[in-house]
Amino acid sequence: MSKSGSPIKQLPQFQYWHQKIETMPRGHLETLQLERLQNMVDRAMLTPFYAPKLKAVGINGSEDIKGLDDLKRIPFTTKNDLRDGFPYGFLSIPKEDVVRLHASSGTTGTPTTIYYSKDDLSRWASYVARCIYGTGCNHGDVFQNMITYGLFTGGLGFHAGAEEVGMMVIPSGSGNTTRQFRLMQDFGTTVVHATPSFLLHVESIMRAEGVSRDSIKLKRAFAGAEPYSEDTRRRIEELLHIDVYNSYGLSEMNGPGVAFECQCKDGLHIWEDGYIPEIVNPDTLEPVPDGEIGELVITILCREATPILRYRTRDLTGFYTEPCACGRTHRRLRRITGRSDDMLIINGVNVFPSQIEEVIMAMKEVGNNYLIEIEKDGVLDKLTVKTEVGPDIFMDDSRPLNSLRERIRKTLQASITINPRVELHESGSLPVSEGKAKRVYDKRPKDV
Ligand code: AMP
Ligand code: ZN
Repeated sequence: MSKSGSPIKQLPQFQYWHQKIETMPRGHLETLQLERLQNMVDRAMLTPFYAPKLKAVGINGSEDIKGLDDLKRIPFTTKNDLRDGFPYGFLSIPKEDVVRLHASSGTTGTPTTIYYSKDDLSRWASYVARCIYGTGCNHGDVFQNMITYGLFTGGLGFHAGAEEVGMMVIPSGSGNTTRQFRLMQDFGTTVVHATPSFLLHVESIMRAEGVSRDSIKLKRAFAGAEPYSEDTRRRIEELLHIDVYNSYGLSEMNGPGVAFECQCKDGLHIWEDGYIPEIVNPDTLEPVPDGEIGELVITILCREATPILRYRTRDLTGFYTEPCACGRTHRRLRRITGRSDDMLIINGVNVFPSQIEEVIMAMKEVGNNYLIEIEKDGVLDKLTVKTEVGPDIFMDDSRPLNSLRERIRKTLQASITINPRVELHESGSLPVSEGKAKRVYDKRPKDV
C-alpha cells in the first residue's frame, strides 16, 4: 500500500523516461533552473506585457537574475493580466513561428490564450510522456483519451505525450459513454485519461448495461482536470480494478504534464526542470513554511512562444517534505484541495460565477436575483441556474416563460459550454442574503 492507502499493485520496477533529469541531485537541478530562468527573463523582456513590468523592478534582462532568489523580485502574473494582454501581449516570438494556440475560459468573454512554437509542442509532449511512462505504461499499451479535444489542452496534450511513449492512441474525446466501452472492447484499451467524474460515470453505465469487466483490458487511468479526493480515487480503483494516477496541469503552464503521480501514488512530482513552483499565502503573497498549504505559483522555464513568470494558479496545495521512494528528486505536491478564488469546476469545465451573471443580467426579462446551484446527479455534476423574472412577467403564462427559459439555457450553454438546468422564479421570491450576496450553493459532497 502507498501512504495514501491506494494499493500499489505490482511492486514497481520504477521506470524513468529521462532518468538523469528525473533523479538529478537538487543542486544540479537548481543550477539548471537558474540558467533556464535567466533565459526566460530574456524572453519575457521581448513581450509587451513583461518588458515595462520587469524594468519597473530594476530587471533589464538575465544579467539582473544572479540567483534563484531573484525570482522574488519579479511581480506575480494573474489570469486577469493574461486577459488584459489578449491577444498578443505575452507573445515573444514572431507570429509566423507560432504553430498552435490553446485557450481557457475566463471570467469575461476574453479567453486566456497560450501560443506554442514547434519546439514548445515537442517539449510539452516529452513532459507528458515522462508522466505517462513513470506510471509503468509503455510502447504496446492502448491509450483511450476520453477527454475534450479542441481549445482545452487535455485532449491534444495527452494525445501527443502518449504518441511520444509509443502507445496506440484512440482519440475518443469525452462523452458518448456507450461508444467509449465499445472502443475499449474492440481495441483492447489498457489506459484511459478522463476526469474522475467521467470515469465513475463510465463505470456506472457499464454496470447498467451489463458490460462485463472481463470484456475489457483496462489497467490504468489518468484522472485530472478537477479536484477529487483519495476516497474517489480508491472507489474508481476498486470498481474498475485499475490503478488511478492523479494528473495536474493548467493551460497557462502548457496543459497536462506539469505534475503527476509516480507509481508510489503519493503526491504529484512537479517537474522542476520545466517549472519553478512556489507556495504562497494567498492573502499576504509571502511564502508559507515548507509543507504547509497555500496557493501554488508557477514559473514556466522552457517555453519560447509564451513566457509566463510567477503565475498565480489559485490552486491550493503544499509540498511533501520527505523524498519519494521512487528516487525522483523533483518535489511532490499534495492533492489540490481547492482554490483561492471563486472558480468552479463543473464536470472538468472551469466556470466563474461572473460568466453566468453576465449572460443572465444581459437579458431584460430577467429580474435582479439569481442563484447558482451545483449538485451531484449520480456521479456527474449538475448545474442549476435559478433566476427571478422581471416584475412585469406573469408566472401563469407558460409560453413566454418556456421560451425565456430555453433562451437562457442556450445562451448560457454557448458561453460556459455546460448545459444547465434553468429555473424561473417570480420576482422577489428567491432568498436574499443579508450582507454580501451568497449566490453560489455548491452542494457536492466535500470529501477532498
Ligand atoms: P485549464 O487551464 O482549463 O486546464 O484548468 C486548469 C485548472 O484545473 C487548474 O488550475 C486546477 O484548478 C484544475 N485542475 C487540473 N488538474 C487538477 C487535478 N488533478 N486536481 C485538481 N484540480 C485540477
Ligand atoms: Zn515518486
